[in-house]
Amino acid sequence: MEAKDIQKTRTLLQSSENIVITCHKGPDGDAIGSSLALYLYLKKQGKNATIIVPDDFPFFLKWLPESEHIILYDANKETANTIINNADLIFTLDFNALHRTGDMQEVLSNASAKFIMIDHHQQPDDYAEVTYSDTTICSTCQMVYHFIDALEDINTLDTDIANCIYTGIMTDTGSFRFRSTTSTTHRVIASLIDIGIDNAKIHQNVYDSNSYNRLQLLGKSLTNLKVIPELNTAYISLSADEQSEFNAQKGDTEGVVNYALSLQGIKLAAIFKEDQNSKLIKISLRSKGDFSVNEFSRAHFNGGGHTNAAGGASKLSLEETVEKFISILPSYKKELS
Ligand code: 5GP
Ligand code: MN
Repeated sequence: MEAKDIQKTRTLLQSSENIVITCHKGPDGDAIGSSLALYLYLKKQGKNATIIVPDDFPFFLKWLPESEHIILYDANKETANTIINNADLIFTLDFNALHRTGDMQEVLSNASAKFIMIDHHQQPDDYAEVTYSDTTICSTCQMVYHFIDALEDINTLDTDIANCIYTGIMTDTGSFRFRSTTSTTHRVIASLIDIGIDNAKIHQNVYDSNSYNRLQLLGKSLTNLKVIPELNTAYISLSADEQSEFNAQKGDTEGVVNYALSLQGIKLAAIFKEDQNSKLIKISLRSKGDFSVNEFSRAHFNGGGHTNAAGGASKLSLEETVEKFISILPSYKKELS
């Protein structure tokens, strides 16, 4: 963080009593972990903080400390709007543009509060008083650690806060295996373990809480896996019917796209999911090496993210979306070969 931003943050925090923390739609481990870590830190500083997230988060994050206090915007619009309109300061975590909050965009855009962004996605929008954006950092959770450190409060970290930060770093780095995992990441993790967290337990809580249905759905996904060998691409599609056959819950398909990417030689992987609620096809894209799925998704699927992990959506049918994907790929033959 730059010195002038640290100073601005101090001033904003001093003059703010009511603080809201929010994150992107379809919150993941990093979004929820960073929100909770910051929330717990601000509470310790005597602030009245509230976490409001656009919609529900995966079952495997429900063990996180204080996660039961998170307000879901889609289920509590009136209460949430009042809290946002009364806020002095709003932290936006793990996203780069207000439209990433879906239905919350309007109330956030009209709020009188000042904004602080903490995020690691590419091309951040310019709406915040303080924009702490760093696309080289693996996770927003690691940034929250540096944020608290910059405010010279790292000694206030306790096991609850450390649990939350560890979880987001772990999920956003694919358990410390993606390129974004640096020696600094490992130093941060080491200090969290020194605080006293049970890192093996966190792993179990997140990754070893599968239902039988979830594994069957994974089986179905792998059966649906298709490969385009000449373009080093693999993709999976899942219809709404297939998801309801296995009673799919929020979070059940998280990580499935990585199986497609794990095929030998594959540089680009995708999963296309029919989403009954939004009537959209939700797309997750992953890549290896220099192929930017952020740019690919921005160009074709109204999305974005990082170089090697991005998301997007399509209003076409599942079949049409997959056809569109297949028809676009040949123009990337050089990059994918
Ligand atoms: P996932 O495939 O897990 O939903 O998302 C992969 C990464 O891309 C995450 O960091 C997520 O926040 C980001 N992402 C997903 N959808 C979008 C989108 O529509 N726009 C942008 N800018 N980022 C996205
Ligand atoms: Mn993240």
